[in-house]
Amino acid sequence: RAKASPARGLSFYHAEMDAAERYRRRMKDDLRIALAEGQFHLDCQVQVDLRSGETCGHEMLLRWNHPERGPIPPAEFIPLAEESGLILPIGDWVLREACALAVANPQLGKVAVNLSAVQFSQPDLPRQVEHALASSGLPAERLELEITESMLMQDRSRTLPLLERIKALGVRVAMDDFGTGYSSLGTLRSFPFDKIKLDRSFMAELDTSPQAVGILRAVIGIGRALRIPVLAEGVETQSQLEHLRAEGCDEVQGYLFGRPIPVPGQERAPSEGGTMAA
Ligand code: C2E
Ligand code: MG
Ligand code: MG
Ligand code: MG
Repeated sequence: RAKASPARGLSFYHAEMDAAERYRRRMKDDLRIALAEGQFHLDCQVQVDLRSGETCGHEMLLRWNHPERGPIPPAEFIPLAEESGLILPIGDWVLREACALAVANPQLGKVAVNLSAVQFSQPDLPRQVEHALASSGLPAERLELEITESMLMQDRSRTLPLLERIKALGVRVAMDDFGTGYSSLGTLRSFPFDKIKLDRSFMAELDTSPQAVGILRAVIGIGRALRIPVLAEGVETQSQLEHLRAEGCDEVQGYLFGRPIPVPGQERAPSEGGTMAA
């Protein structure tokens, strides 16, 4: 047939795309199994109040230990979970697990949970949050939800009421990764955030670029104007910390204070072989 010839030139290309596509499909199937078989867990990473030096909370980060491929980073599997829609039941599991861990471990303080844009497009989200709080018994003020600006850009007449319904539960909301993507002061001004998390890409530049110090100062000024704390993400070095202190940053999170780790005492026994974490 005449139509067959253009396709022939694409056949090599096709084979490669098939391999990538097969991998993605396989991983999506594996994600479904992972959720059903309990292969996920949450790590916690400490957040520190810079003035008092005390723990103010923990960010809860999703981890997947694939039975054959080992740990898969969230940056790799979350987009697949979003494409397949599985992020909804996974996100609900994350919320419930974070609340349950917080109740069982008062030393965690406030727990911060990341939301996906897909979750944020569900009108049902506030009810799910309410349910996770009620079934765990966690007081709402110990839960913080992290969202990124891009999630709010969609349609303000929808996202603002959604955010307000969540806030009405007494839950806090933090703007994650501030300074990346479509940052605008308008977003900060018109949505009721309780915290700004300055993206870790700024930390890398603090030691080398006076401009980065200026931006840090400006973001801290915005936090002051809005009367909300600014947390610096990805703090790795003492000299970054000194800049943050000098500029009056409120909170810090990063490898310098602690890497993400399983909640102490909650390490899962491996399903086969291995030793029990004592
Ligand atoms: P994020 O919310 O900005 O989380 C902070 C990320 O920075 C984490 O990566 C953390 O391990 C890493 N990090 C913390 N301190 C340092 C540091 O000092 N240096 C460096 N280089 N990195 C640091 P992780 O755990 O790989 O997560 C990546 C992203 O995946 C998160 O970025 C978040 O957007 C997403 N994510 C993680 N857990 C969840 C979840 O439960 N649900 C959803 N929807 N997204 C999640
Ligand atoms: Mg986050
Ligand atoms: Mg972040
Ligand atoms: Mg991020």
